[in-house]
Amino acid sequence: MIPPGGADLRTAELAANVAGVRSRLAAACAAANRDPGEVTLIGVTKTYPTEDVVRLAALGVTDIGENRDQEASTKAAAVASAGEFEITWHFIGRLQRNKCRSVVRYADVVHSVDNVPLALALSEAASRYRTTPLDVLVQVSLDGDLARGGAIVETGQSDRALKQVLAAVEAAPDLRLRGLMAVAPLECCPDDAFCGLHSLLCRVRDDYPHATWLSAGMSGDVESAIAHGSTHVRVGHAMLGKRPLLR
Ligand SMILES: *Cc1c(COP(=O)(O)O)cnc(C)c1O
Repeated sequence: MIPPGGADLRTAELAANVAGVRSRLAAACAAANRDPGEVTLIGVTKTYPTEDVVRLAALGVTDIGENRDQEASTKAAAVASAGEFEITWHFIGRLQRNKCRSVVRYADVVHSVDNVPLALALSEAASRYRTTPLDVLVQVSLDGDLARGGAIVETGQSDRALKQVLAAVEAAPDLRLRGLMAVAPLECCPDDAFCGLHSLLCRVRDDYPHATWLSAGMSGDVESAIAHGSTHVRVGHAMLGKRPLLR
């Protein structure tokens, strides 16, 4: 466990990394003429131990992102039982319908809703297990590559069509539609992708004015994401170091 006062080498390493990321965010906000208070820094702790979640929280990073239910639920339970820090848990990974009943019990925000059956399963689970609505972002595909997840922008009646997914989330009484999430495509430059994402959010807001959150930007592209209106950046290895396993 962490020594009292967090005076271990790992804490020092994380403190330096967090300071580095925060200064990148501050510079990106200054360049974009944005208030840094508009941008939430989410520490993505997948593959890292609960101790690192606690270290980040002690450094002021209390928004934590995870992409696997089993790992996330274990960490959330451990942090909750220690009782020292209040964490906002963000579920950012591919989500199977049969995991919804677990995820709604610890997650505060789900970023990765990209099809109608998933929205319905999440809604059912939220109404059964939650006392407060679950914040939801609809994940969109920026390159149309179905295998990488995300709702599809230009299709009609499919379960993966953005219009249908937005409508399903909006109609669910226990889900609160907050905005959009995306991952920049592997091949192309993040600037083009995030520029397109931002104009998509503006169009979505015509129908859903309360959908104001934009979850975009990871370790390699936070500057570009912030230039294009990101409100939630999901930063993993720039804060935690190289992940032990690639997932
Ligand atoms: C792992 C992950 C991140 C963080 O990636 P880094 O490149 O390590 O910053 C962000 N978003 C999602 C959806 C992820 O799975």
